Amino acid sequence: MQKAKLTLKTPAQPQTIVYLNETVTVGGSDLLIVGGPCAVENGAQMEAVASRLATAPVQALRGGVYKPRTSPYDFQGLGVEGLKILASVRDRYGLPVITEVMAISQIEEIAAYADVLQVGSRNMQNFDLLKALGQANKPILLKRGLAATIEEFVMAAEYIMSHGNPNVILCERGIRSFDTYTRNVLDLGAVVALKQITHLPVIVDPSHAAGKRELVPNLAKAAIACGADGIIVECHPEPEQSVSDARQALSLEEMVNLARSLEPIAQAVGRTLGSATLSGTGNMSRFSYDLLPAIS
Ligand code: PEP
Ligand code: MN
Repeated sequence: MQKAKLTLKTPAQPQTIVYLNETVTVGGSDLLIVGGPCAVENGAQMEAVASRLATAPVQALRGGVYKPRTSPYDFQGLGVEGLKILASVRDRYGLPVITEVMAISQIEEIAAYADVLQVGSRNMQNFDLLKALGQANKPILLKRGLAATIEEFVMAAEYIMSHGNPNVILCERGIRSFDTYTRNVLDLGAVVALKQITHLPVIVDPSHAAGKRELVPNLAKAAIACGADGIIVECHPEPEQSVSDARQALSLEEMVNLARSLEPIAQAVGRTLGSATLSGTGNMSRFSYDLLPAIS
């Protein structure tokens, strides 16, 4: 771990705050609550998600358009059509959008539409992708590999940082174990450790950890209680109809209730829960990441 000189906490760099857009941050006192479907399916779906979540204490949207599916015969994502849908709801509701990048060849296109580029678990050690994302002008949400040690996770972040991008958000999303009742094992010990040893924001994905919607709200609460800087949760207007990860998707009402229920826990750990963004902000001018203040 000694060689992770950019990622590990130092007296000079006790905490990094990452800006998702000009107002939404993660790593400061405000928690980051992200909601949205596993995959972008169509415009009506994302419209329903964005219009409902924009009235809740949710600060960003998620939705995959390039999906890493176990089977090559399953839905692989809408690609650029999905990016346009994401950008459209972002511009109309003012919520930054997060989507996964699976290949170097997708970086430029995704960066033109999305606010945050996600590296999925299956790509956490795709070192060429990590190096290329070091050159990207967008924040990176780096998910922990399915069976990655904490040290491997930190070194993956170090790849991105050492290639020029300081805006990395770590995401614990559960690790493989022997038990099949839950999809993965949510490693809150890793969250506590990463908060102690790194200066990067750390968020938790209880959806892919649990794999079952009824487990998600309490795991999300535990994540905030143990010091996570935010959560990223899958939800859908019709959870049972989700084209991917249906079993773990919350309904929009459940997502809103979950976000609201975090308030007393946030308060107990000295954090703040951002209020709802104004919906229907009209044609927001295209945000430029270049104009952001340097990250300290
Ligand atoms: C996802 O966020 O939809 C996803 C595929 O997550 P992970 O890479 O953690 O499995
Ligand atoms: Mn998913």
